[in-house]
Amino acid sequence: MSFKSLGLSEPLLKAIAKKGYETPSPIQTKAIPPILEGKDVLASAQTGTGKTAGFTLPLLYLLSEHPKEKYRPIRALILTPTRELAAQVYANVKEYGEFLNLRSAVIFGGVNQNPQVAAIRQGIDILVATPGRLLDLENQGALSLKRVEIFVLDEADRMLDMGFLRDIERVMNLMPSKRQNLMFSATFSKDIKKLAYSILKNPVQVDATPENTAVEIIEQRVYRVAKNKKTELIIKLISEGNWKQVLVFTRTKHGANKLCKKMVNAGITASAIHGNKSQGARTKALADFKRGTTRVLVATDIAARGLDIPLLPHVINFELPNISEDYVHRIGRTGRAGASGEAISLVSADETTYLQSIEKLTGLQIPVEIVEGFEPDPNASTEPIKQGQNRSKRQPRNSNSSSRKSNSGSHRNDNRNRNRRRNTNRR
Ligand code: ADP
Ligand code: MG
Repeated sequence: MSFKSLGLSEPLLKAIAKKGYETPSPIQTKAIPPILEGKDVLASAQTGTGKTAGFTLPLLYLLSEHPKEKYRPIRALILTPTRELAAQVYANVKEYGEFLNLRSAVIFGGVNQNPQVAAIRQGIDILVATPGRLLDLENQGALSLKRVEIFVLDEADRMLDMGFLRDIERVMNLMPSKRQNLMFSATFSKDIKKLAYSILKNPVQVDATPENTAVEIIEQRVYRVAKNKKTELIIKLISEGNWKQVLVFTRTKHGANKLCKKMVNAGITASAIHGNKSQGARTKALADFKRGTTRVLVATDIAARGLDIPLLPHVINFELPNISEDYVHRIGRTGRAGASGEAISLVSADETTYLQSIEKLTGLQIPVEIVEGFEPDPNASTEPIKQGQNRSKRQPRNSNSSSRKSNSGSHRNDNRNRNRRRNTNRR
């Protein structure tokens, strides 16, 4: 299978070649043809499998085939849950569309709206947006969605997790009812299906269940450790292992800052990325980390979702997430693009139940180690820690607050099968 045989045009093939892609990924192979036929598509495939190109390439093709008008209305809307994702998708739109005569812009919150408004005013064909800023600017009359022909909901599962259901509904009401709808998601839960029914018309459903993708070659390990020894242990692991690029997850923004400071004090270059950081700080932290100028990026779940950091060798859970699916997403940050990776979790007594539910979800028993001098505290309570809510500040303003629960239920089997395979591979 080649990109050419999928029916893409020369300017797109040229951009694809420039990106260095040789063959389409499984989800691209499956999703691109029905999208080119103008059908609504529901696509699910794991993180890191090339979903962005899966919708962007055919979208660019369709827009470039249709006649453009002198006054350029927004003809395609791509909605993503986070600023980082919006920026990333926009970068891809620019790259893949380099040899086409189409214009695009990206809008998200946390930064001055004026440059965004100015970009839209120039006339654009494609808008990449997060829901909040989109609704805000629409409300101000700075943009219109009345001429949207193609609507893409990217990372739909995360959208629901972040409580964007109501916003999505609002956005849908601003678009003409006759349009093509594409929905992409890493997981495929009952809630996603429900949302799909409300958005998509006679959708073609495609999924690429990974046979041999990155996640399967991730080595997972748990270090049982006393809570008050975690910082020391993580510094030891990174220093002694001489690890150069480590993504660390904490449960709270405050925890991320604190850990970051301690690492810097210990001589490890580190920066934090979370929702309380300005967009500028987040962008810089990510760029420095990708470039290798900082060794450690400390992140919270929301901030890290969807970040495209290629060939990341080490992911460390400084704390386990209380939501088991987040564990799968976190470790999906390592071993991308076929490279091997290692996912380590530091687990204290109060996280025992989290570990149990992660193992239940993944169907995998994670090997446990103890480092001398960093033994777990035998007297510590195994009572779970009270959760300081570290979800998005936007609390779900709708009936969707139960989505996480049902999410885990319906996805459990998929994950279990996947991990069984992973388990046998490792032996
Ligand atoms: P997803 O949205 O599924 O998590 P992305 O779209 O972010 O994944 O893609 C993950 C990485 O794979 C990106 O670095 C992207 O450039 C790369 N990629 C996408 N398609 C291909 C392809 N056909 N061949 C090689 N690399 C690809
Ligand atoms: Mg994606």
